[in-house]
Amino acid sequence: MSTHVAIIGAYGSAGSAVARQLADDPEIELTLIDDGDPGGGLCILRGCMPSKEVISAAKHRFAARRDDRLVGDLPEVDLERTVERKNEHTSSWAGHRRSSIESLAERETVELVRETATFVDDRVIEVGDRTIEPDYVVIATGSTPNVPPIDGIESVPVNTSADVLDATEFGDSAVVLGLGYIGLELAPYLSEAGGMDVTAIDILPELLPEADDGFGEELADYYREEFDMDVLLDAQASHVEETDDGGVRVTVEVDGETEVVEADQLFSFTGRKPALDRLGVENTSLSPGEEWVEDTMQAGDDERVFVVGDVNGREPILHVAKEQAATAATNIQAHREGDALTEHDSIHHHVIFSGLARLPFARVGHSADAAEEAGLDYVAVDSRAENDGVFKAKDASEGWARLVVAPDGTVLGYQGLHYHADAMAKTMQLAVEMELDVREIPDRAYHPTTPEILDALFRKATEKLAERDEATATQ
Ligand SMILES: Cc1cc2nc3c(=O)[nH]c(=O)nc-3n(C[C@H](O)[C@H](O)[C@H](O)COP(=O)(O)OP(=O)(O)OC[C@H]3O[C@@H](n4cnc5c(N)ncnc54)[C@H](O)[C@@H]3O)c2cc1C
Repeated sequence: MSTHVAIIGAYGSAGSAVARQLADDPEIELTLIDDGDPGGGLCILRGCMPSKEVISAAKHRFAARRDDRLVGDLPEVDLERTVERKNEHTSSWAGHRRSSIESLAERETVELVRETATFVDDRVIEVGDRTIEPDYVVIATGSTPNVPPIDGIESVPVNTSADVLDATEFGDSAVVLGLGYIGLELAPYLSEAGGMDVTAIDILPELLPEADDGFGEELADYYREEFDMDVLLDAQASHVEETDDGGVRVTVEVDGETEVVEADQLFSFTGRKPALDRLGVENTSLSPGEEWVEDTMQAGDDERVFVVGDVNGREPILHVAKEQAATAATNIQAHREGDALTEHDSIHHHVIFSGLARLPFARVGHSADAAEEAGLDYVAVDSRAENDGVFKAKDASEGWARLVVAPDGTVLGYQGLHYHADAMAKTMQLAVEMELDVREIPDRAYHPTTPEILDALFRKATEKLAERDEATATQ
């Protein structure tokens, strides 16, 4: 007898990945459910892709603005054209995603239902005008913007990342709440493409909490200097109200003082929360909250329910959603057979397109702090872009990189806040995940390319390890 699996959120990144893996199992009958209109998932429609698309226009203006070799009037970003081109691309990518799911549904064992799924009880799910009782359920319903519960915030219009991606006009000034990865991408866009005076507020004392000390400070200075932004850290908005001219007034507690900031528009980039509102979880024994999903991707309260992607509230980024999807699909098959389940354990791997992607941040594997916390012995070496002629020649000499290696040479981690750090994350993923010995990585620089900064790190680490070994030998 076949096993019936329902996937709620099948057009999304996580849901579609589970669907593709399970559709090949002849013993599984799949019901794929999604009520998205038009459907295609967050990453394609309002997340990773459209955000990179719009900031690429602002990046060109930024590069021209800061280059004193260019003369003439600085071009403006045509917001109408930017949004139009973004829409052309996203609708094509989303169409592709939908077709790939629809083609799965051409198989006899797979059906696609374009309706909202709502739990009636632990076993029964209402999908449109029918009910189903699957053996396993995959919840992959994604996330929605999290607007912070600040006193008075409901009395003013709050713009989220989705509004920014569709905006064809902006006011003269902005208050931005939140400089996490979304705020770090979009706040400079408001400044460069929108021409806004931006005041950005974050509750954390330093940007980039996942990075070692220094990276966040340098990025905050970059935003202040390059985008003329007021960056208020260790700061908390305590009250919001509308001004007489239709703008916003935000009261902020910063450094034990109270400041009042006024602007035309308020933007909230304060993270995302699991999209559970239409799912009827209150009719089940599931209790969403912190750590409600195990490393096997099973809900702690029901071993037949798997929760993947943003909705589990763990790490709301795309490649993690896909990894979790693979774990869930494999574990559904294992659970059916009564076999042991595997746990999802991903190596830290984040990329943030800060500074309009001219000064992106990437971390792969351990920072020095993370190595310390894990009780690992390590050696850390740094390299600054300004000391590398290649970065100077390419007019991008800001920022720096750090490599963390174990005493036996194993590469433990890389952090980069510099031009092309996003592209270098892949190389460093190989070095970290394949546990390469830094002393054995070929010392061959493709000159003059920006990854020479990695060669510099490898060389420095090799030298430092040799010095360390020598010191130990002479003791
Ligand atoms: C501005 C922005 C920029 C981002 N940039 C990056 C980036 O650069 N890199 C990166 O890795 N990540 C980025 N992300 C995060 C990334 O987009 C998400 O982590 C990823 O898209 C989550 O995928 P998912 O499958 O969990 O959810 P989704 O793709 O949102 O899929 C959820 C699906 O569930 C459906 N659904 C929901 N409820 C129901 C229901 N009750 N019944 C039926 N169907 C339902 C929805 O229609 C949707 O199709 C960004 C996000 C934002 C907002």
